[in-house]
Amino acid sequence: MDQVISLTLKVWRQNGPDDAGAFQTYQAEGISQDASFLEMLDIVNERLIEEGTEPITFESDCREGICGTCGLMINGKAHGPELGTATCQLHMRKFNDGDHITIEPWRAVSFPVIKDLAVERTPLDLIIEAGGYISVPTGSAPDANLTPVPKEAADMAFDAAACIGCGACVAACPNSAAQLFTSAKLNHLNLLPQGQAERWQRAENMVETMEMYFGTCTNHGECHEACPKEISLDFIAFMNRDYVKAKIKNRKLAGQR
Ligand code: SF4
Repeated sequence: MDQVISLTLKVWRQNGPDDAGAFQTYQAEGISQDASFLEMLDIVNERLIEEGTEPITFESDCREGICGTCGLMINGKAHGPELGTATCQLHMRKFNDGDHITIEPWRAVSFPVIKDLAVERTPLDLIIEAGGYISVPTGSAPDANLTPVPKEAADMAFDAAACIGCGACVAACPNSAAQLFTSAKLNHLNLLPQGQAERWQRAENMVETMEMYFGTCTNHGECHEACPKEISLDFIAFMNRDYVKAKIKNRKLAGQR
């Protein structure tokens, strides 16, 4: 049977990056526990629009835990109480009738608030731009088996590629560090034979771009706890190893030119 609950929401409202912002309280009555968290916000917004109040701004796209667009601090936890779950995949059955829920945007200096619960995450794109790609010669498509990929490397690269770029790792980190995101994006290419040609330049460029915008990792591990794709902290160790090697190799290569 469809269980219906009523909630009290404390939602962060902010008109723009320069506005101070404040919490507003809303009642969310008669919410089906089969609804997702974002569907619950949709219902609240429909009611706000009917009342002539401006709806709450929040981001979403695929609503299938794939695109990384959604992301909210729910009761102080990035993506809410369910481990390994993006905000869009969190369901209201995880809450009880009468609960009070506090909803905030990602809190990080590098993620200024655009409006209410939506934040600017461009610095993550700049890290990708610095090296999160491989150069492919144009021409006809090569045979899929032309470059053998060891099974272990394929499995690890696939695990790293699961990162959806949501930024929860940054929001959960007390230093607003982006090591988990950067290491996932770097390793899913550096682990594969196809990523070797640009490996050392990629490591240096991506890590140094990350350092321009984000804080330093001090091994709290909060990023892994918050990550909806449960990206392993091991990737940070692999990234640090590649970065140190890259500094030596790139210097040697520069000396040969
Ligand atoms: S590492 Fe996890 S938390 Fe960080 S951006 Fe990727 S999916 Fe999101």
